[in-house]
Amino acid sequence: MRIDVLTLFPKMFEPPFSESLMKKAFDKKIAEINIIDIRSFSKDKHKKVDDKPFGGGAGMVIKCQPILDALASVGIKKKLSAYTNKSRRPYIVYMSPQGKPLNNKIINSLLKVKRLALICGHYEGIDERVMNFVDCEISIGDYVLTGGEIPAMVLIDSLVRMMPGAVKEKSSIENDSFFNGYLDYPQYTRPENFKGMKVPSVLLSGNHKEIEKWRKEQSYIATKKKRPDLLKKI
Ligand code: SAM
Repeated sequence: MRIDVLTLFPKMFEPPFSESLMKKAFDKKIAEINIIDIRSFSKDKHKKVDDKPFGGGAGMVIKCQPILDALASVGIKKKLSAYTNKSRRPYIVYMSPQGKPLNNKIINSLLKVKRLALICGHYEGIDERVMNFVDCEISIGDYVLTGGEIPAMVLIDSLVRMMPGAVKEKSSIENDSFFNGYLDYPQYTRPENFKGMKVPSVLLSGNHKEIEKWRKEQSYIATKKKRPDLLKKI
């Protein structure tokens, strides 16, 4: 999958994707990421991309032109008539507090997409007319952040992590919280006894059937205790 990210702050994307699993995934070409600086499409001599909102009010709004020209640079025609041919352009997502709350179901549906373009807003947001080109608005929660960059990073991380080959063992993703609707079971590592706090004996028994049974029970208990709402959806 190729992911194009439209942002006013391209440098923000360097640290999270140059470490750990994300770096390895991009090095292995499991996904390709292309960061596009919206400001480089400004036609203003001072490279301004925002302006005051019509009707008055606080803050600034990112203009249509630099965003739509940035989209055009990744294969989206400027004419609305060309917009109908969705197969020839990326699936376009605007990171927005007004969007659908991000969850595993959305990540799974995005995994089927060959090309994805994420628009990161800033200031008061973006000119509403850009929405004519947007397929979906996605939020990372009911709170407002300064910009769409962190939400885009959250989406990319959870998406790339689910791609085949990103995580060494497939089972580690399959046991993760939400994969089967339940939360993950508790994990322990050495030592067996840490200052009197012992690891559940079943995990040391070597009896794989019993361990699996215990983990399933614990998954259910954790879900019931921490996220009972998830059980209703199963
Ligand atoms: N005035 C906007 C509103 O209330 O809907 C919020 C603008 S916010 C300060 C600037 C940008 O941050 C938004 O355009 C969006 O791209 C991003 N953003 C803020 N909170 C977000 C969230 N919870 N999920 C996804 N994107 C968010």
